[in-house]
Amino acid sequence: MPREEEPSPRPSPFRVLSRVQETPDTVTLTVTPQDGAAPPPSFDPGQFNMLYAFGVGEAAISIAGDPTAPERLVHTVRSAGAITQALSSLKPGDTVGVRGPYGKGWPLPLARGKDVILVAGGLGLPPLRPILYHVLSHRDEYGRLEVAYGSRTPEDLVYYPEIQQWRSRKDLRFQVTVDTAGMDWYGDVGIVTQRLNDMRFRPSESVAYLCGPEVMLRATAKGLTERGIPPDRIFVSMERNMKCGIAQCGHCQFGPYLLCRDGPVLPLSAVAPYWSIREI
Ligand SMILES: Cc1cc2nc3c(=O)[nH]c(=O)nc-3n(C[C@H](O)[C@H](O)[C@H](O)COP(=O)(O)OP(=O)(O)OC[C@H]3O[C@@H](n4cnc5c(N)ncnc54)[C@H](O)[C@@H]3O)c2cc1C
Repeated sequence: MPREEEPSPRPSPFRVLSRVQETPDTVTLTVTPQDGAAPPPSFDPGQFNMLYAFGVGEAAISIAGDPTAPERLVHTVRSAGAITQALSSLKPGDTVGVRGPYGKGWPLPLARGKDVILVAGGLGLPPLRPILYHVLSHRDEYGRLEVAYGSRTPEDLVYYPEIQQWRSRKDLRFQVTVDTAGMDWYGDVGIVTQRLNDMRFRPSESVAYLCGPEVMLRATAKGLTERGIPPDRIFVSMERNMKCGIAQCGHCQFGPYLLCRDGPVLPLSAVAPYWSIREI
């Protein structure tokens, strides 16, 4: 969707309102502009912000909240290195720098009237969650809503209380699977691609949105293609290393694309030719 406001290239100070420990290494932060500051620009599902941990550095983090409530930005952060560790350690009342939103998000208008398929692996669920909020608040504009979410173990599942609510609804189907689990897990065990055959959708009337590790993206894209969804109706979010977020530094070059500007969401038909090239 075109928007009038260009995001500022400088981080603005935001205050942390809440911090939820999702898993041992992952937290969800809700942030809002410091008192008196302008509200943040609206965002499209699939866009990301650059979050600045003061004195440490900046990282690209997807926007995981409700697009109808952009004044409260929600970000889910997994502690991977110095920056995400510093972001994960923020507490309510702390300040974080935010610039964005950046990138091209999920093309939702394409899915109007069609079945919507979301497949998430690991931390792929946060960038897909705004689609869920959007489709559920415009439910009669879309067909079936099928979601499959896989993580390594039950302890790695994010948004677990909300998943329970989604699973109790009749207007979407939300499958959860884990690679391995102990005796106290009563759900499905196996990789997320094994859930694809269970999904119900009209192949020629469906749009699929995928996010997760690249190996999972490739396998899921292959499975959905084999079930008849055309490659230009399958979209993937390519969360490669990124530095500037504004198409200046070239860190996120992927074939002819700069993922911060042309992505992170791209159709499978654009991505697939470059997946087979090892150096890319
Ligand atoms: C568009 C986009 C959206 C993202 N959304 C999120 C999000 O919602 N939540 C979140 O926690 N992270 C997200 N990331 C990843 C996040 O930006 C990186 O994990 C972060 O920059 C790492 O910085 P660091 O200093 O903490 O770790 P570093 O020291 O830079 O890296 C630590 C380890 O993580 C690896 N790594 C770094 N970046 C990535 C990456 N993009 N993918 C896989 N491995 C990586 C490094 O190779 C290294 O092994 C996103 C990345 C992109 C490009």
